[in-house]
Amino acid sequence: MGDYANRVMAHLVAKNPSQPEFHQAVQEVAESVELAVDRNPRYAEFKIFERLLEPERIVIFRVPWVDDRGEVQINRGYRVEMSSAIGPYKGGLRFHPTVDLGVLKFLAFEQVFKNALTTLPLGAGKGGADFDAKGRSDGEVMRFCQSFMTELQRHIGQFTDVPAGDIGVGGREIGYLFGQYKRIRNEFAGVLTGKGLNWGGSLIRPEATGYGAVYFAQEMLATRGDGLGGKTCLVSGAGNVAQYTVEKLLDLGATPVTLSDSSGSIYDKDGIDREKLDYVIELKEVRRGRISEYAERFPGVEWTPMDPMKAYNPMWAIPADCAFPSATQNEINAEDATNLLAGGIFVVSEGANMPTVPLGIEAFVQAGILYGPGKAANAGGVAVSGLEMSQNASRRAWSRETVDERLLAIMRAIHHACRTTAEEYGAPGNYMHGANIAGFTKVADAMLDQGVV
Ligand code: NAP
Repeated sequence: MGDYANRVMAHLVAKNPSQPEFHQAVQEVAESVELAVDRNPRYAEFKIFERLLEPERIVIFRVPWVDDRGEVQINRGYRVEMSSAIGPYKGGLRFHPTVDLGVLKFLAFEQVFKNALTTLPLGAGKGGADFDAKGRSDGEVMRFCQSFMTELQRHIGQFTDVPAGDIGVGGREIGYLFGQYKRIRNEFAGVLTGKGLNWGGSLIRPEATGYGAVYFAQEMLATRGDGLGGKTCLVSGAGNVAQYTVEKLLDLGATPVTLSDSSGSIYDKDGIDREKLDYVIELKEVRRGRISEYAERFPGVEWTPMDPMKAYNPMWAIPADCAFPSATQNEINAEDATNLLAGGIFVVSEGANMPTVPLGIEAFVQAGILYGPGKAANAGGVAVSGLEMSQNASRRAWSRETVDERLLAIMRAIHHACRTTAEEYGAPGNYMHGANIAGFTKVADAMLDQGVV
């Protein structure tokens, strides 16, 4: 890192102690921003990057609710409104026991650049709660969501802040959240995305992040005259992003062979086909079971339980061509990155946010593989959320084909912006610099236009 990035980082760490994920996300971008600041000193003069590191607003609130046994439970809710430079705050809600302010600030910060890349007028935010839905009944999840929205509704709105889903927040939770918003505010508005199809949702929104990550991989491969047909692919996670990554890989003739959850991973050498994928969707979205059940259901499948004492994840050591990390942050450490390269991986398209540690990214870039960072590769979800907002505003619903075509066009545009920007700034083939700089300059120029706010 150069002087500028070092100065910014030292200030950030001193001002925001104990937020390691936030530091990590900023450090990765700071190195790229330094290249942009060298070209346009006005960004430094008007402290554009420094301003982006300070959220415009953070709301932290109590979420009390009563469980099925009649016991009072208390969770902590958050909304980080990071930047409204190019549109209303936009970004998902995460319900997971690991949620804290540092995690949400990292996610909201990433969202600034991702949303700018989508070509749509979307600002950035992120929120959630330290709520764990595992083992909770539908009634408990509903009561939690209603309590969460009772406070959040004061701070959001279709022109102000439009949340969506993320880890632990899928169609069921968005339904409960929307119902409570409507009840309190007495308005039927496009205040959340990821809604059900018959009450304002968009076709392809559930599929969008996974499909988008695969489209991004396809675009990267096309630069080398290659495609996904016949490629063996490692996919992590077993939730929304992982499921639709597998579906699109199958559409394009690839063979996905792994899935995981927080208890471990499965390796299906024969490939996860459509019938097996249907089983996974039913297992995760209806029965809310564990991925280990896949190995009990289908013969010849290897099940490896998660071992926190192990220095690496054996799933990333399986020989394959492409990897789609689609679970959570820092799921690929430096040793995993080395194992992936040794196993023949030459495409990494990140469905999850910040799944690779900095040393892992360095290893991918050094090796010259096609590495698509999350803020570019997984932008398809928020892009279709933006399309859902357009449909709500015009009171129209587009066909599946229309939305899918627009998603593909947006992923191509993001790929093009990353690639050409990387070249322009002297880092050809480095999608990380390309994504960071293209996203940053769009937001930075809007901030210069709007004065010191
Ligand atoms: P999801 O449906 O809740 O699925 C998350 C999956 O990841 C689950 O299988 C979960 O397993 C696993 N997981 C979560 N934390 C884990 C951990 N600490 N260790 C191992 N596995 C873990 O969430 P999702 O929407 O697919 O999101 C996955 C990733 O994509 C996240 O990084 C999210 O920020 C990112 N993303 C999502 C969207 C979107 O539209 N949904 C858009 C952009 C980016 P358990 O069930 O055992 O916890």
